[in-house]
Amino acid sequence: MKSITEIQNFEGKRVLLRVDWNVPVRDGEVLDPERIDNSLATINYILDRGGKILIVSHITKEGESLKPAFEYFGSKVPAVFCDDLEAIPEAKLVVLENIRKWEGEKKNEEDFAEKLASKAELYVNDAFSESHRAYASIIGVPKLLPSYAGIYFMEEYQNLSKALSPAHPFIFILGGAKFETKIPLIEKFLKVADQVFVLGAIAKPASETELVNNPKINLPVGDVAALDANQETLEVLNLKITNSKFILWNGPLGKYEEGLTEGTKKLALMLSEICASGQAEVVVGGGDTLAVIKELGIKDKFTFVSSSGGAMLDFLATGTLPGIEALNSV
Ligand code: ADP
Ligand code: MG
Repeated sequence: MKSITEIQNFEGKRVLLRVDWNVPVRDGEVLDPERIDNSLATINYILDRGGKILIVSHITKEGESLKPAFEYFGSKVPAVFCDDLEAIPEAKLVVLENIRKWEGEKKNEEDFAEKLASKAELYVNDAFSESHRAYASIIGVPKLLPSYAGIYFMEEYQNLSKALSPAHPFIFILGGAKFETKIPLIEKFLKVADQVFVLGAIAKPASETELVNNPKINLPVGDVAALDANQETLEVLNLKITNSKFILWNGPLGKYEEGLTEGTKKLALMLSEICASGQAEVVVGGGDTLAVIKELGIKDKFTFVSSSGGAMLDFLATGTLPGIEALNSV
């Protein structure tokens, strides 16, 4: 995979830049601009070297507009909004309307990918968090243009890759919900990690499988269906964490939306302390997990906190993503 930092001069070129500006919006206001801010490094890198950019992003709902994200961004960097692929203005920075407005995106239609590719000379993917989807702007366009990974994309890729060849002892802590979606991760990390904790709402379904017989598996102490991690469980975690060199954590330990935040917060603080002490590297991710860490204001105490949600889980389970494969195939 080639990184955008291999290019020093963009003079006379337009880059089709796929970002993930799928930010939470209420009443037309961006509630959390983190994903937009994450893309600024790549945008400035291209602009500083004389390039023009066509920014492409989705927002989850097909009928929804990317305008609120554009307005937040436009208040920092001058840009033009465009909802017509046939009439892209000549401006240095153009932001295209929600890419899911066009049917060819999700279907990865060849004609649509060709149309998108015809608007630029280069393609850059800075949307790691969307790269588990085989859509036109993720896998179609990079087959048609010289293609590169963006700066934030590389940061996600390099930090999450640490979990695939980690220092040992390596502890994997998995909480949250939806057991079926987490089975591939458990199977993968039983091969890579020294200890695997299965906590949160997935502990009970896990306890009903043959995972219980695996000596690497740790379930909550006491009631596996408890709505939060108890003190005994946190003590076992603390003991194992204290002796480890690398920790990967995804998923809250309790039903935190209903106020059961204590176990998750204690674990977050425990992990941030061991990471800050320099004894272990700690990589964390997951939408809900990130929300808890932000609330505590300790995001910068970890080696890396991924904002890539489902893409992170897929990458960790398989070691790659459709969007990575597409960048590697050129
Ligand atoms: P992430 O988004 O960080 O990957 P998940 O989406 O897998 O995490 O899981 C988050 C959900 O898990 C939350 O809705 C939370 O309430 C639920 N959860 C976590 N632990 C428990 C528990 N012990 N009992 C019930 N629900 C739990
Ligand atoms: Mg979640």
